[in-house]
Amino acid sequence: MTETARPRRRLLVISVDAMSVVDVPFARTLPHFARILEGSWGSAEAIYPSVTYPNHTSQTTGRTADGHGIYANEKVTPGERIPDWFWDARDIACPTLFDLAKEQGLSTAAVGWPATGWSPSLDIAVPEIWDRAGLEPTLAVLREAATPRGREYVDRHAQEIGWDRKHRFGRFNTAVAADILRTDAPDVLFLHLVDVDSARHATGRFTAEVKEAFERVDGWLGELLAALEDAGTAAETDIAIVSDHGHVEVGRVLRANALLARQGFVRLDADGEVSSWDAWVHGCGLTGQLHLHPEADETTREKVLALVEDWVADPEVPVQAFHPLTDMHEDYGWSGPFLGILEGVSGTAFQNLWDGRWLIDRFDAEYEFLLSQHGHLPEQDIQAVFAMTGPSIETGRRITRCTVTDEAVTFAHLLGLEIPDADGRVVEEILRPAPVLQEAVPQEA
Ligand SMILES: [Zn+2]
Repeated sequence: MTETARPRRRLLVISVDAMSVVDVPFARTLPHFARILEGSWGSAEAIYPSVTYPNHTSQTTGRTADGHGIYANEKVTPGERIPDWFWDARDIACPTLFDLAKEQGLSTAAVGWPATGWSPSLDIAVPEIWDRAGLEPTLAVLREAATPRGREYVDRHAQEIGWDRKHRFGRFNTAVAADILRTDAPDVLFLHLVDVDSARHATGRFTAEVKEAFERVDGWLGELLAALEDAGTAAETDIAIVSDHGHVEVGRVLRANALLARQGFVRLDADGEVSSWDAWVHGCGLTGQLHLHPEADETTREKVLALVEDWVADPEVPVQAFHPLTDMHEDYGWSGPFLGILEGVSGTAFQNLWDGRWLIDRFDAEYEFLLSQHGHLPEQDIQAVFAMTGPSIETGRRITRCTVTDEAVTFAHLLGLEIPDADGRVVEEILRPAPVLQEAVPQEA
C-alpha cells in the first residue's frame, strides 16, 4: 500500500508564436482561447534573442541560451545566403523536458516544435523543418527528421501541409497533434503554431490578417480540446498557451556585412560571393550578432570593435548600441561564438546579405521586406503571453511577469520532474494546492 499517490497529470503545451499579452482581450472573444484564458494568465519575458528557436528551447529546458546553446534561429555561417536553422535536437547542450520525462517513463510528443529534429528522446516527433525548394523536398526532410512513429503521422496527414511560396504547417500540425492525442494519448505534447507570427511579419502587428490568424488558430484549439475529450484525457490534462516574443514595427533594413565589406573585413570574389572574411554580423531580427573569424588577430579585433564604435556614434548608421558578450552573459544569460551584439535603432532589421545597398528604408520603393520583426532585447516593447488551465491550475489568477524559463520549470513541476541547473522558477501563483488524497491507493500486484 502507498501512503500517498500523485494524481495522474498530462500536459498539453500550445505555442501561439508571437501572441502577446495585449492580444488577450481579443482572444477572449474567441470561444476556445476564452476557455483556456479562464484559467490563469499573464506576461512572460523572452530570453535574448527574442526569436523563436532560442525561446522555444528555453520552454523545454528552463535554461537561457548560455545553458541550452541555441543562440539564434540560424547557425552563424558567414557567406551562406540561406543559413541552416537549429533544426536538430542534438544541438541542445542540456537536458530537455523530453529527456527527463523519458527517464521517468512518461510518453512524449512534439509537433512543429523548434529544435526537435532527430530527437534522441521524444517518442513522437514531427519537427519543424523545411526546404525552401518546395513542398516535395520539405516533405522528404520532414520525414527524415521525424521519429519513426512521427513519420507515420507525417504520412497520414501530408496532404494537409500548405505551400504558398513557402511552407504553411498550421493546418497539418493541428491535424497531426489531434490525431496523436486521440491515438497515442501521450503524457506530454508540445505543439507550435506560427500563423499569428507569419501574419504579423507580412502585414504588421495589428492587421485584419492577424485577426484572421487568431480566428483560425482558435478553430484549431477547438479541435485539440475535442481530441482530449474523445481520448478521455481532458480531466487530467493541464493545458498551456505559450508564446516566444512580441513584435516591433520595422522601419528599415540594415546589411551590416555590406558595411564590413566596404572596410575590407568581408572580401568578395568575382561573382560577388564571400571569399574570405575577418568579421561577420549574424542577422538576428532587430539585433545583429558580431562574429570574429576564429583566426583573426588582436589588431583585427581592435579594428572591428573601433568600426562598430563608429557606427554607434554615426547618426547615418541605425545602430544605437554595442553590447559586449560579457555584458550579454551577465544581463541576459546569453552566449555564443560572438564578440557581442549590435542593437539597432528601434525597428532596424539586420540582414545577413552583403550585397546591394547597406540601408533600405520603408519609404524606399525597393523595400519589399518584413513589416514587423523581433529579436530585440527582451525587456523592451510588448511581452509574450503565458496562460494555463487544467486540474492543477487556479482560476482567474494573473501573472505580473514571469519568464520563458519559468514556464519550463513549471511544466516540469506539474509532471513531477526536476530540471537540473534551471534558470527559472516554478510559477507558484497559478498552481492549486496539491490535492491530499484521503484513501491510500493499492499498488498493483
Ligand atoms: Zn516566434
